[in-house]
Order: sequence, then C-alpha cells, then structure tokens
Amino acid sequence: MLREIFARYRQGYQTFAYPKKPVDIPERFRGYPVLIQGSSHSENERIARTCGFGALFLDDGNLALDMGRCLFCSDCPAHEAVSFTTDPVLAVSRRDDLIVRSGQAKKTAGQLPPDLLKLFRKSLKFREVSAGGCNACEADTNVLSTIGWDLGRFGVQFVASPRHADGLFVTGPVSENMRAATLLTYEAIPNPKIVVACGACAICGGPFTGSPEIHDGVEGLLPVDLFIPGCPPHPVTILDGILRIMGRIP
Ligand code: SF4
Repeated sequence: MLREIFARYRQGYQTFAYPKKPVDIPERFRGYPVLIQGSSHSENERIARTCGFGALFLDDGNLALDMGRCLFCSDCPAHEAVSFTTDPVLAVSRRDDLIVRSGQAKKTAGQLPPDLLKLFRKSLKFREVSAGGCNACEADTNVLSTIGWDLGRFGVQFVASPRHADGLFVTGPVSENMRAATLLTYEAIPNPKIVVACGACAICGGPFTGSPEIHDGVEGLLPVDLFIPGCPPHPVTILDGILRIMGRIP
C-alpha cells in the first residue's frame, strides 16, 4: 500500500487541466485554417482545384474552405493559399459555421437550448456508433476516457446501452451496412437526445463523399447538434466541443 501511495506522490496529478489551462499543442499540429486569396479569380479557381477532396471552393470569387470536408492533410497542395494555425478549437453547432472565409470571425459551438442545457449541463452520456469509420476518430475519442483527459470529471461518459444514453456520437461516413444500426441506436435513446458528428466522415463522408456505399455522413439521416471537424479530430477538439454545448466553456 505504501508503495502505491509513494508512486502516486511521485507521479503527481496526470490529468490535463483543460479547459482551465490550454493544452500544449505541437507546432506541426494543423488546426484552424487561415486563407490567403489568390491574385485573381482564375488564380483562385486554379488553387481550389488542387484540393482533391472538394474542401476548397469559390464563394463569390473568393476562396473559401469547408472545415467539415477538409482532411487537414500534412502536405496540402494548396499550401500557397491555406495555412493551418495550432488552434484546436474547431467544433461548431451549425454545419454552415464550418465554412472558413477570409476576414470572417471564427465561429465556435454554442450552448444547447435551455431545456437541454438544464438536463445535460452536469451529466451527458453518449452511445458511440462507429458507422464505417477507419477507427482514427474512435481512437482519439477513446483517449478522452484515459487518465490524461479524465472525461468523467465533467460528467461525460460513453455508455454501453443506448437506453442509458442522452446522445448519439457518430464516427465514420455511415456506410449502407451501418445505416440501420445507426438509426436503431438513435431510436433506442430516450428523448430528449442529441447527436454529435465527429470527424470529416461523419460530417460529410470525408474522402468517401459521393460513394454509393455511404450516406455522406449522418446529417442527411439525423439532426446534428455538434459538428467536430478533423481527420481525425484532436482529443482536445472533441473535448472542447462537448464542453461548449454543455455550457462548461463560456
Ligand atoms: S488539407 Fe487536404 S482536404 Fe484540406 S484543403 Fe488541403 S488538400 Fe484539401
């Protein structure tokens, strides 16, 4: 026993203090994007075409970036126009708020409506459905339950049964094989309930967008309350989004 107490003393407190203190983010991390417009309309058109995933597009002649579609590639071919900051706060409550435009104020996720906030501010349980994902989003979500993040201290847990859950947490592009399981899980969660789309695939299908085998994410099937972009999102991006809808981050 003494050995355990000594080990605990030696190791100290291992959990990140987020959101009280920011988390150390490595310089190579690709977070909130910043756009630099090309010198002309045709130049912007050319740059937009370099993104093979349709994340870059022209909006009134200006380059815009859809964070929900962007895979935050390590070697973005549009690097002349897109640079990534190390800001990991990316989650939003509305799909449109994932569109980044030059000079536009950054959007973040807002609190749930008052009736839901009253219920879920201190306790929010999720049933996770991996709807055809590659397991990267699941891995970065799982890590939140480890000692480093200790998600349970906020009253947030991933539970085994949808009957015990307050919300559905979806990763993956929702393949046809997983469509029924996703919808049945949602149905099994008691009302009122929320839906979280975690990662580019769950938001819009990610690199699989347009495939007849997938449903281009969960939004076309269910109402989504929180969009967490990334491929995969960093654990702090996921945690930050959840805490914001719970009203735990102003
Ligand atoms: S990071 Fe990847 S997905 Fe995003 S704009 Fe660049 S090429 Fe497109």
